[in-house]
Amino acid sequence: MRYPEAVNLPFNGAIIREGFRSLRPGEAVPDGKSLWVMVRGNYLVLVEEKGELQFLEGGRPEWLGEGVDGICFGTWYGAPLRAVLLSRKVEIPAGMVAEPFNAMEERLDERLLTLGGLAHQVLSWDRHSALCSRCGGSLERIPLSWGKRCTGCGHEHFPHIHPCIIVLVRKNGEFLLGRKSAWPAGRYSLVAGFLDFGESLEECVHREVLEETGILIRNLRYVGSQNWPFPSQLMAGFVADYAGGEIVVDREELEDARWFCRETMPASLPGRRSIARWIIDTYALESVS
Ligand SMILES: [Zn+2]
Repeated sequence: MRYPEAVNLPFNGAIIREGFRSLRPGEAVPDGKSLWVMVRGNYLVLVEEKGELQFLEGGRPEWLGEGVDGICFGTWYGAPLRAVLLSRKVEIPAGMVAEPFNAMEERLDERLLTLGGLAHQVLSWDRHSALCSRCGGSLERIPLSWGKRCTGCGHEHFPHIHPCIIVLVRKNGEFLLGRKSAWPAGRYSLVAGFLDFGESLEECVHREVLEETGILIRNLRYVGSQNWPFPSQLMAGFVADYAGGEIVVDREELEDARWFCRETMPASLPGRRSIARWIIDTYALESVS
């Protein structure tokens, strides 16, 4: 199997452990050529050479404009990584391409994809933490941390990472998948949703499955997690057994939900780089004891 455990999936730290060292704002940035991790909307802007995609390497590119140095969030084999949010107005120079930034495409090396995910989270937090949510004052960085402190009321703010659950429900060789209307034709995936106030992860799984599909579950088992930088979630993966109920689809959330089996697999599944697909590949066709 390509990813033996969920921890091996892209966007999780294990995949970049060998070459990556984290740097926080205020830490000394090593000299030398930087690697520019450029994010524009849902794309990473990269150099394409002989079909290979790489981060732009070197000094500050002039076309970024005056004063744009990026946010240094670490090093990759010793080279500083600088995250830059590109405006849609910036013209991409010849030799560079905008590559879709998601878990479906497989052209981009999964380590670079993971570094892109880090840059995306750093940039998203930076952009959405300009002002204090308590008093409207401006925020300044807390040295050696991703946190920020309000210059008005002194309140400290830290990055938000949102817990989500994702679950495969199994019933005698069948498994439950649903689809959202916005997805490509034929695509089905697992039931998933955000943790609510006052909930444990397990309670969230029971609620989401019941709300979205009308199905009751039992034997809930945690199987692994994936950092999900769109923009900043933690996907906690579960497998459960069917305990009762008939499928009643919540049309606000899903277009369809149904039981599949080995003979009736959906036309399209989530990308291999997502925990959704990893759970399906690992557990959907496993015989249930
Ligand atoms: Zn404040």
